Amino acid sequence: MTEVVANADFKVKPLIPVTQALEKLLADVETDLVIEQVDLKNALGRVLAQQPTALVDVPPQDNSSMDGYAVAMASLNVDGATILPQSQRIAAGDDPQPLTVASVARIFTGAEIPSGADAIIMQEQVTVDAAGVHLPAGIKDRQNIRPRGQDLKRGELLQPLGKKLQAADIGVLASAGIDLLSVYKPLKIAILSTGDELLEPGEPIAPGKIYNSNRAMLTALITQLGMQVVDLGKVADTFAATQKALAIAADSADLIISTGGVSVGEEDHIKAAVDSLGTLDMWRIKLKPGKPLAYGRVNGTPIFGLPGNPASALITFCLFARPYMTKLQGGIVVKPMKFKVIAAFEHLKSGSREEYLRARYSEGEVQPFKNQSSGMLSTASRANGLIVIPADAVIQSGELVDFIPFSELLA
Ligand code: AMP
Ligand code: MG
Repeated sequence: MTEVVANADFKVKPLIPVTQALEKLLADVETDLVIEQVDLKNALGRVLAQQPTALVDVPPQDNSSMDGYAVAMASLNVDGATILPQSQRIAAGDDPQPLTVASVARIFTGAEIPSGADAIIMQEQVTVDAAGVHLPAGIKDRQNIRPRGQDLKRGELLQPLGKKLQAADIGVLASAGIDLLSVYKPLKIAILSTGDELLEPGEPIAPGKIYNSNRAMLTALITQLGMQVVDLGKVADTFAATQKALAIAADSADLIISTGGVSVGEEDHIKAAVDSLGTLDMWRIKLKPGKPLAYGRVNGTPIFGLPGNPASALITFCLFARPYMTKLQGGIVVKPMKFKVIAAFEHLKSGSREEYLRARYSEGEVQPFKNQSSGMLSTASRANGLIVIPADAVIQSGELVDFIPFSELLA
């Protein structure tokens, strides 16, 4: 029986560390991307297929950082205050005249500096009366002037290839005059949930059944990555149903993510079904939760077989599927930031696997939830990140531990 052989195989494979597993997975990414154009308002979360450069200097002209008066240094008394007449008024958006010699120009924040002016005096430091505009002593050359090109020079690289665009990126592109961008077409990700026990929310609960949480959660995770979900629904725990669903998934998507059915029990058909259509490896990762992770290809399309337990599915998605998908989408894979924070707990039983604990960080301290059962999703929802406990480590209360905020893993 093939299943028994697979089982034996699985047992002899050594456990590999999380970082090594991720390196191997990323090395197996084969991209085949389509490029499309989007305008800026549709660019959020999209991955750059070009390296945009500034079309203009930013700001395009010298401009005032204050409401006040523009003056030429040459018109100022060297030792004391100066009184000058006002020759023009320049509001933001105006095209100013050159500054008349021995005068000031009334000017407002963001307005272009007239040629000939080389300092702005803020209005609070000035008095105006019938004699003219009284300027204080001590004015510095170029004060309160934002010079042309201070932020960006024309032709300057704005973002690298593969950058996933965030709000500030889009603002910068706009400031540099860019309206259209080349980005990669979003990948299609097929999801399927194995398990005869699964009901969809909205259906009445029934004996032996549970609600399918992975399907809704994966849909959200994939959508957050800016990719399209091809939802193949629930798959019955039979070889035939699993094989059929996988073949359809491979045909209709760039990547397949399944949950459940990857153990080595009689009701677990992912491995045999993938083997029949391609190749599947069961990876034993030094990771808790989520030791067994299935990865392979179905008719050439990569597949992640995530564990059925929802918390394991979430964590293995974040650690492995997410960076893989980012690279497959043409994006730059960025390591999630970890922060050293104070442990408000002790972890005295060391384990041979790296452990990711659902936890809450607050005011400099982090505390894991007591029950870390991989079947419990409520704690993942109440947590704001994961504590990483290295293999073989013991943690005393008050020590520094690594914490990854969920914001680093979920978008
Ligand atoms: P399996 O990996 O199929 O053996 O499933 C492991 C555990 O996860 C079992 O308790 C399943 O009932 C549960 N499980 C599997 N798939 C889902 C799902 N889509 N939603 C919620 N729980 C699931
Ligand atoms: Mg199952």
